[in-house]
Amino acid sequence: MPTYDFRCKKCFHKFSKRVSSSEKDKVTCPECNERAEQIFTGFLYKKAAGENGSSGGCSGGSCASCSGC
Ligand SMILES: [Zn+2]
Repeated sequence: MPTYDFRCKKCFHKFSKRVSSSEKDKVTCPECNERAEQIFTGFLYKKAAGENGSSGGCSGGSCASCSGC
């Protein structure tokens, strides 16, 4: 059974859980019991880096915010 990453829709708690693909839609947050949605790590990382520019290499064409890439 594969492990998927999820994020709570209410408190944004992130966690990984082993579920079958048919149960991905029914996963709930271990913190608040609200419905959680699956997150795609690669996509999320890319998106986050592009939005706040705080992690990973630079996306704006300058190396001002990274240690040199
Ligand atoms: Zn939660």
